[in-house]
Amino acid sequence: MPIDLHTHSNASDGTLDPAEVVAEAARHGLTTLALTDHDTTAGWDEAGEAALRNGVALVPGVEISTHHGGVSIHLLAYLVDPADPALTEEMERARASRDTRMERMVAKLAEGGIPITIEEVLEQATPGATLGRPHIADALVAAGHVRGRNEAFDELLHDRSPYYVRHYAPDVLRAVRLVRAAGGVPVMAHPFANRRGRTVGDEVIEQMAAAGLAGLEVYHRDHFGPERLHGEALADRLGLFVTGSSDFHGAGKENRLGENTTDPAVLAQIEEQATSGVTVVRR
Ligand code: AMP
Ligand code: FE
Ligand code: FE
Ligand code: ZN
Repeated sequence: MPIDLHTHSNASDGTLDPAEVVAEAARHGLTTLALTDHDTTAGWDEAGEAALRNGVALVPGVEISTHHGGVSIHLLAYLVDPADPALTEEMERARASRDTRMERMVAKLAEGGIPITIEEVLEQATPGATLGRPHIADALVAAGHVRGRNEAFDELLHDRSPYYVRHYAPDVLRAVRLVRAAGGVPVMAHPFANRRGRTVGDEVIEQMAAAGLAGLEVYHRDHFGPERLHGEALADRLGLFVTGSSDFHGAGKENRLGENTTDPAVLAQIEEQATSGVTVVRR
């Protein structure tokens, strides 16, 4: 019963429509998937309808941008109230800041001799989508500056690049509390993915657990053997469950649906812990 709890559509930086993500999941034999776009729940309705049509279960979710001490942390929130005022305000702030940050990154690239316009970037995104560096990457590919998203990140867009600009995100401990207050179940995404950017130490994860964190996404392609063992031990010590997911972004990343999966007993815990009234969509 393959369960994949982390996927993206073009409501953020994935390349497929929400309905296409669900149809792909069905084709790959998944029984359950979570749609977890960055800082938006805009894909939920379309994905829910597609889930009913395709006979897969959909867990409505979101991947919230947060930080701690300047280090970016992605927080998955499952079955959260999408209308919760405090949480939606934070996500709206993050999305607005992502828009202005995109303009600043484009300006820096242009100053650095890599001519690209904000219009070219916006052409790569669905109107209203949460903008992210993958959209700049796609514009750089379209303009012939790089061959793919990977090359764009490695050479120009990584978080130590001179062209990198941060965007607003709430502190992670506040975000964990907001997700719980909105009836959702918070899980730390790819906690040890230190090849993609800076990560926090275990003491921060310990504080997150004290603030109400439910789980750690241990089985993820950015974690190798030692990190998986460490994640399992840490989760055990802090009383957290562990999840596994693909972090599928369509054609934008190599990640394939169902390449890492979550135990059905963990999904049951997520459903038990949620208090928002939002439920898994299944026939
Ligand atoms: P941002 O949200 O603007 O900070 O950009 C981060 C997003 O870029 C994450 O959601 C990743 O999925 C994506 N990303 C990071 N590194 C790569 C890469 N090498 N290739 C494709 N996408 C990437
Ligand atoms: Fe992404
Ligand atoms: Fe992430
Ligand atoms: Zn993700």
